[in-house]
Amino acid sequence: MNEQGPERSAHPARRRRERHGLVIVNTGEGKGKTTAALGVLFRAWGRDFRVRMFQFIKHTGARFGEQRAAERLGIRIEALGDGFTWLSKDMERTTALAVEQWGRCREAILQGGEDIIILDEFTYAMHYGWVSVDEVIETLKQRPGTLHVIITGRYAPQELIDFSDLVTEMRMVKHPYETQGIKAQQGIEF
Ligand code: ATP
Ligand code: MG
Repeated sequence: MNEQGPERSAHPARRRRERHGLVIVNTGEGKGKTTAALGVLFRAWGRDFRVRMFQFIKHTGARFGEQRAAERLGIRIEALGDGFTWLSKDMERTTALAVEQWGRCREAILQGGEDIIILDEFTYAMHYGWVSVDEVIETLKQRPGTLHVIITGRYAPQELIDFSDLVTEMRMVKHPYETQGIKAQQGIEF
């Protein structure tokens, strides 16, 4: 034990003010995973951080509210999806696409040109086995020490959860579609 006591010495990082890159996971079946990541993007952008978001699943030509806002603010949000999903009939093509998309993200993570990178809906690629969780974790280990990475989506693999620094599970308490059949609302969902 040192003079600062056992609790403080157990967490030396707490005493440091310098940047410490975090791996953050927003998972669970409730709404708010992507929007929470967008909130961080907005907050960090306000701090002049270099931010970049990759969106899996979403169509390359997607023009949701977040893409429109990002365009106006000069933030890079790249929709990588080709409309492919786990329902696709051609799983070979889906896997090849996911691997290719992950390759682009991997490059960005290792390059060191960003302060925050968001991999939106990326959990599915790992959950369905298109991209290996081990490879993702290896890449995250090699990232620049100050880079924050946020991964969103349902079914985050346990290995990723164990490796991550900050994990939040969104839980559905009530959803207007479930209770009233109300469809997705502009500005709230897209
Ligand atoms: P958001 O992008 O709003 O932060 P999310 O990323 O947490 O949501 P996803 O799991 O990516 O949500 O799901 C995408 C969409 O599915 C969201 O617009 C959400 O409102 C909708 N959704 C979530 N749960 C339900 C449900 N039980 N019934 C119908 N739609 C749902
Ligand atoms: Mg989402």
